[in-house]
Formats: sequence, C-alpha cells, structure tokens
Amino acid sequence: LEEHELMAETEVRAQTCFLDELLKHGLLIDTGVDGLYGRNDTYESACDAIDKLIARIGRDEHAEVMRFPALMSRSYFEDSGYFKNFPHLAGTVHCFCGDESSHRRLIKCSDVGEDWTGQQQSTDVVLTPAACYPVYPTLAKRGLLDTAGALVDVRSDCFRREPSREPTRMQMFRMREYVRAGTAEQVIAFRQIWLDRAENLASSLGLPCAIEIANDPFFGRIGKVQAEGQREQGLKFELLIPVNEGETPTACMSFNYHQDHFGKTWSLRLATGEIAHTACVAFGLERLTLSLFRHHGFVPAEWPEAVRAALWP
Ligand code: 5GP
Ligand code: ZN
Repeated sequence: LEEHELMAETEVRAQTCFLDELLKHGLLIDTGVDGLYGRNDTYESACDAIDKLIARIGRDEHAEVMRFPALMSRSYFEDSGYFKNFPHLAGTVHCFCGDESSHRRLIKCSDVGEDWTGQQQSTDVVLTPAACYPVYPTLAKRGLLDTAGALVDVRSDCFRREPSREPTRMQMFRMREYVRAGTAEQVIAFRQIWLDRAENLASSLGLPCAIEIANDPFFGRIGKVQAEGQREQGLKFELLIPVNEGETPTACMSFNYHQDHFGKTWSLRLATGEIAHTACVAFGLERLTLSLFRHHGFVPAEWPEAVRAALWP
C-alpha cells in the first residue's frame, strides 16, 4: 500500500472507532443507515445546551425567530440554485399518485422484489439542504427591508446525501443560523462580529479551533472553478475543530457572504430599492455536540467545571 492509502485506512478505522464508542455509550442510536442516527437524552441535553448558549451570545441583537420544517418548497429550492450547484447532495420527495390499477402494478413489483420507485412522481417539496434557504424568499415577500435591514434566527433539520461512517458526516443534521440582510457593509460587519464571537464560544467550551478560508462542495469540473472563485473572494470561512481522529479537522461553523446572489434571486431589496446583500452564520449542532464528547469524554457529569458552567449556567 502507498503511504497515503495507509493513512486513509487508519483514518477510516479511527473514525469508525469514534462512531462505535458513541453507539456503545448509547449517545447515538443505530438506524440501519450510515449517517442517520437516533440520539439519547444525554446527547440531546448537550446539544440543547449548545443551542441555548448560542442564543445567549446572540441575544442582544433581538433576531427574529423563524422555525421551518425539514422540507421546503421545490420551487424556492430550484430558484436558490442549490440543485444546479450541488445536485449530488440534494434530496427530493417523490410519492405514489396513481389509481387502483397502478397500485396493483406497484404491489406486484414490490412483492417480487423489483424496483417500484420509478412508479412514483415528484412532488412540490424537497428536503431542506441548509437552514437559511427558506428565509430569503420569506423576507422578500414582505416588501422592502427597512434601513436597519433584517436579522433572523433560524434552525432546521437539514439533509445532504452523503452516507458515511464518519459520525460528523450525517445525512440529516440540525443547523442553527443567524441570517442577515442589508447593505454590503451591514452584512460584512455582522459576519465579522460572529467570526470573533465564534472563537470565544469554542474556547469557552474547551474546544481547540482554527478559522480558515473555505469553499462549498460545488459539483463537477465547473464546480472547481466556482470553488476557487469563492476562496479568492473570501466569501466563506469555517471554524474547524478536530473531532475525528486523523489529519483533518471538521467544519463546525461557517460564515458565509453571498454578496447579492440571494438578493437578486428573490428581488430582496433595501429601503432605497437597491438589491440587498446577505450573509449567514451557520452552527452545526451535531458536530459541536460530537466535539464535546470527543474532547471531554462520554460522560457530561465528568466534563471540566468551566465547560459545564458555560453550557449549564
Ligand atoms: P455549510 O452550509 O457551511 O456547508 O454547513 C453549515 C454547517 O453545517 C457546517 O459548518 C457544519 O457544522 C454543518 N454540517 C455540514 N455538513 C454536515 C454533515 O454532513 N453532518 C453534520 N452533522 N453537520 C454538517
Ligand atoms: Zn446559511
């Protein structure tokens, strides 16, 4: 084996080991599908504490709370460009819409183990890929922003089709975000404030971290060019924490400046009528929770006092 293959093998084994430990302690519950887990009370209480800690840090800005289901409008989804840029991650909902004779065909198919899924039709809903996606069209429908712009606190289950044995790469996970719309200056200032707060947040939880320039996983050859452009313009930063064993730390938060992309897409406008700029700060709640178990052990009662005080004041 080449050296890098050996390395990859050890990494996979180490990650599987962390997953096995999480399952053994009952924190995650196996569902028969890689990247899809149930969670126990201990896990939920840690995750809930992180969620509330983030809310305490952001409280002074009085963000408007919006909670959306894990499904969103297919037409909003198509407008957003997600399907164009990340077709490999998207999940769409299909349902049976036939009559009784097609039902008989369907049953016959599934009885003999043949593929029946082709007999389903697409619907008007898709799985939400990022918590902030439903926010932009919602703001745009209200009319012009006021001069202060908008700030929204949103949280959602998100789906990305990435089956993996790496516990930090789930197919369905919770994402909390603050979403800002306004002038370029307003949204860039917002992102900078959260970049600073994020490092404090991680250090108050005793988690080693680094902030780095990043890119989204755009699809295909053109996607490589898009990713380079995103990096060159400094549109995305991530806060990385070593969670899995091995070389690569995990992105647990992201800080995104979309320029006027979503503003143009939905005609989201400032009080002056100009197209608004947007930015969002995303917290991966599962990844942050897992990083606590990784760094402080599987028993929250035994975590360092300062960490417990930050989580449960
Ligand atoms: P982004 O939109 O920047 O890709 O994702 C925002 C945040 O969601 C990431 O920083 C990360 O914390 C979380 N996230 C992204 N992909 C996954 C994933 O596959 N599994 C989990 N558990 N969290 C993810
Ligand atoms: Zn976002």
